Amino acid sequence: MSEHSEAPLVPRYSGSEFSEETLADRRQWVEAQCDSKLELVGKSAIPAGSLRGNIENPIGEVRVPVGVAGPLHVRGEHATGIYYVPLATTEGALVRSYERGATLITRSGGAQVRVLHDENQISPVFSFATVEEAVDFCRSVETEGELWEGIRSAAESTTRHGKLLGIDPKIVGRDVELTLRFRTGDAHGMNMISRAAEVACRWLKEHSAATGYLIFSGLSSEKRPSARALHGTKGKHVVAGIEVPSRACRLYLHATPEEIRDLWQRTVVGNVMANAIGYCGHYANGLTALFIACGQDVANVANSAVGMTQFEVTPEGHLHASVTLPSLTVATVGGGVNLGTSRECLELLGCHGTGKVLKFAEIAAAIVLSGELSFAAAIASGELSDAHESYGRNRPEEREQ
Ligand code: NAP
Repeated sequence: MSEHSEAPLVPRYSGSEFSEETLADRRQWVEAQCDSKLELVGKSAIPAGSLRGNIENPIGEVRVPVGVAGPLHVRGEHATGIYYVPLATTEGALVRSYERGATLITRSGGAQVRVLHDENQISPVFSFATVEEAVDFCRSVETEGELWEGIRSAAESTTRHGKLLGIDPKIVGRDVELTLRFRTGDAHGMNMISRAAEVACRWLKEHSAATGYLIFSGLSSEKRPSARALHGTKGKHVVAGIEVPSRACRLYLHATPEEIRDLWQRTVVGNVMANAIGYCGHYANGLTALFIACGQDVANVANSAVGMTQFEVTPEGHLHASVTLPSLTVATVGGGVNLGTSRECLELLGCHGTGKVLKFAEIAAAIVLSGELSFAAAIASGELSDAHESYGRNRPEEREQ
């Protein structure tokens, strides 16, 4: 036993976990344990009572600066018009870069955006005594197969908005990886579909020769980048594109369409050598900043930022830029979208609540496109490091305290 094995546990306050007094008590306890002060963490804007379901052992709130990038003209099926997009970050130069891309998109006539598919997946794994039993199971669980109705009604018994769209079984020896594909309405859906899948799996275990199952096999790539995420597993499959006139390209990006296309070709090679999944400049930057501002589950950037950027030169000599995000996990209902500033930021985009998630997905793809244009231009024109020197350097000794 080490001298630390008896370290005290964080106090729990059964029955009053989400009161202001509890937060203050626990904060004081941890301040004393760590001989440190949490003065700012204690100045919360979110009422303690509304934290239930979003956090355990709460002690307050951390804050991240938020800026706004726009005007961003989106020509989607759900988002149409001009948006000023909230981005929460501490990376100097990030908002300015997205602003440049957004303004260029707007001055070039707006980004076309479409959501192709909308489904969230969960992939349990079932085990069997023999290969034969595993194969029989695969045949009976397919969409519209012998067990389909039973699985569907078990799954949908736990949710009003979750709909089972289909089942894809994959056999691996005596195991079967079962992908359950759900529509989750305006919610992110993981609480919704993991409960639905659990009930469906229990039903399936009773109605098959399965010896057991695990609810997560890893196949669906929740919060992980993977080649599978590139084909769409988690949420919205979104594409956004813009034709940028050659003149606007030179004016805003300080590079010609050919220079941007050449940069794309040469950096594709580097990405192939790195064994990258997909190809992009920095989807994670804009998505993380948007997710923090709008109360999304930020860890889903891991799967959402898997995608493909393309830069081409049209026969007329203009630049065509596009981004494809096959696994964009976003929500406008549930999760953290009602907490404090998250709701305000979603409302800024007209994207809070029911019926808004596809609109939010389209705006997200358009802001990602803005970032790809600006980032590519900064590298092609050699301005990337200068921009970070201007906006992003933070030498502590040069700062006013
Ligand atoms: P949730 O906040 O747990 O539930 C949201 C609920 O809102 C839905 O289940 C649905 O109830 C209801 N709802 C009302 N109006 C709706 C509408 N228009 N569209 C869809 N639903 C509507 O959220 P969740 O989206 O299921 O789960 C998201 C959370 O799961 C995130 O915070 C994430 O961090 C967390 N998460 C969980 C797991 C896990 O394994 N459980 C994994 C990763 C992340 P009905 O179901 O009755 O329709």
